[in-house]
Amino acid sequence: MTELPSRRLLLVHAHPDDESINNGATMARYAAEGAHVTLVTCTLGERGEVIPPELAHLTGAALGRHRRHELTAAMAELGVRDFRLLGGAGRYSDSGMMGLPDNDDPGCFWQADVDEAAAHLVEVIREVRPQVLVTYDDQGGYGHPDHIQAHRVAMRAVELSADAGVPIPKVYWNRVPRPVVEESFARLREDLPGTPFAKAAEVDDVPGVVPAERITTVVDGTAHAAAKAAAMRAHATQITVAEPYFVLSNELAQPILTTEYYELVRGERGERGSGEAETDLFAGVGEDS
Ligand SMILES: [Zn+2]
Repeated sequence: MTELPSRRLLLVHAHPDDESINNGATMARYAAEGAHVTLVTCTLGERGEVIPPELAHLTGAALGRHRRHELTAAMAELGVRDFRLLGGAGRYSDSGMMGLPDNDDPGCFWQADVDEAAAHLVEVIREVRPQVLVTYDDQGGYGHPDHIQAHRVAMRAVELSADAGVPIPKVYWNRVPRPVVEESFARLREDLPGTPFAKAAEVDDVPGVVPAERITTVVDGTAHAAAKAAAMRAHATQITVAEPYFVLSNELAQPILTTEYYELVRGERGERGSGEAETDLFAGVGEDS
């Protein structure tokens, strides 16, 4: 087996674009520091709404192919070379928004057998042996079926890989502390007239907002703000960027967060005793684990 860098980070996401919005600064930072960063995306987002009118003709498989190119371009911006589709491209399709008939499509990720999907992820875990896994909370951040399923599959794979003798020392969920979001939305509302966007989103439109006490880990990615914005911009069917803000297809402006926040849900917190949040996802992880 080829020698892997001593620090290895695995991120599990539902659709192309989720990784850049949630973790773009973190991914760019660790890639720049020489860590091995692996992204597993569960679907190609074939049911996403397309923003640019000139690309509005893209739907279904054609949109999936296009979004795969967007993902490749985004990963080039972040400096991440190892990115994969769960079970291979097209294995699981986008389930659409919760409550739509799309959720019943037999090929969609929402209908996937969790153990079978997790087994695909365990294969990646055996190969990469990550010390850190990042995914969503049990609500998938905001209730999209593919995000909930990505959470279930990732957490099941954590159990299965531990049983298989390849434990992952630290598991995190993506989080955002409420005071930080409130402050950045206050700034956004002031700045809004100077942006190309007409309306701001609400704090509760942001996935994973929790009280500040829940945050265990703060990753300062300020130095990688430009890479994060460029990666988000690469997902042009889904995101319009006007730094430091962006909109999704609902056209409601949100701040681009370049410090990213996490809640450690499995494993030992590093930097213990200081009472402060960790500043490194790998804190306390031995380099040989
Ligand atoms: Zn998504």
